[in-house]
Amino acid sequence: MVPDAPLYLDACATTPLAQVARQAMDEACMTAWANPSSLHGFGLAAAESLERSRQSLAADLGTQAEAVRFCSGATESIHLALLGAAAALEPGRVLISGVEHPAVTAAAGRLQQQGWQLQAVPVDATGLLDLDALQALLRSPTRLVSVIGAQSEVGTLQPLGQIARLCRQAGVLFHTDAVQLAPHLPLAMDQLGFDLVSLSAHKLGGPRGVGALLVRQGLSMAPLLGGGGQERGLRAGTEPVVLAAGFAAALALARRQQSDGTSARIQHQRDRLLLALQDLPGVTLSGPHPARQPRLPHHLSLLLSDPRGRPLSGRQVVRALWQQGVAASSGSACSGASGRPQPSPVLLAMGVDRDRASSGLRLSLGCWLEDAQIERLPAALAQAMAGCGAVPP
Ligand code: PLP
Repeated sequence: MVPDAPLYLDACATTPLAQVARQAMDEACMTAWANPSSLHGFGLAAAESLERSRQSLAADLGTQAEAVRFCSGATESIHLALLGAAAALEPGRVLISGVEHPAVTAAAGRLQQQGWQLQAVPVDATGLLDLDALQALLRSPTRLVSVIGAQSEVGTLQPLGQIARLCRQAGVLFHTDAVQLAPHLPLAMDQLGFDLVSLSAHKLGGPRGVGALLVRQGLSMAPLLGGGGQERGLRAGTEPVVLAAGFAAALALARRQQSDGTSARIQHQRDRLLLALQDLPGVTLSGPHPARQPRLPHHLSLLLSDPRGRPLSGRQVVRALWQQGVAASSGSACSGASGRPQPSPVLLAMGVDRDRASSGLRLSLGCWLEDAQIERLPAALAQAMAGCGAVPP
């Protein structure tokens, strides 16, 4: 990118397709386009390509190839994890954290309609799960726990190893939404003892439309869809061979970037950006401070206010930032009826008051950014904020 080309700081929403993923998909398009269930040579080539992708993903995720079940993305994976695991259990209680992605809240809500009790375990002001509260709830009738590994809006990293251990000791199944975690940190599925892990390719340089559910061996699960019995009977439908090739290549690249200095460079850019932004009036960090607590290494989230301390609308600032050539995002959704910004449920769960909970801004960086480009961000944000009015009370 040239220094004044638009800056893409929305990696948590989606990432540009990595070159290696495109190449892997081009190759699979040419050589593995057939139906992998077909018994002729074209089908066998597709089946081999799919299994290579499965093995590569499994190796990069610290598990066996049999654990990897491809599906359309994390939203499907999460529904399959919670509803599919619950179908093999007596209805009981499902625990989620207070800061889940809406896909988890929706899937857990479905379980509630099926007679399950749903309870959200509280988090602290940085979004960190209250482990004592979790432990106290890990008794009958709790049968299932789902906790987001890395929070997309505020960057909090949960102590997944500890949570998995507590769940295992209590004989409760543990699912983690690792969509934002997997691109940045190693995920040793078998070593940490996770039962179910959800992943999405498009958050790590892979294509949209493919994801995976990792399933611990021996776990009883029911499919959501009937049909051809693909993915060991758990996810019917002709497999996305080409997309799976892109997913595997992108994850392999993400893993290499964790050790070849790329992730360290991005983290350094993020740290310098935080220092510069903290000097701007009306800007406060939300989520954990990276110097004191684990946080996604490419991630910053801010709460914004005007010179009189009144909260700004995060959505308005995002639009104004785009006028400055910066693509960012806000955690706040817009109410269809009134057009007024809605407070972010994640910030509310962290104890941010309602007025400030629609003033969030998220900046998520990636390997495509150069230092010089990041340097123009503080001035762009100051200008964008100056052009936005406070949210009326
Ligand atoms: N979970 C988290 C933490 C996410 O950030 C997202 C994407 O926004 C999802 C789940 C859903 O992923 P997908 O777009 O693959 O359905």
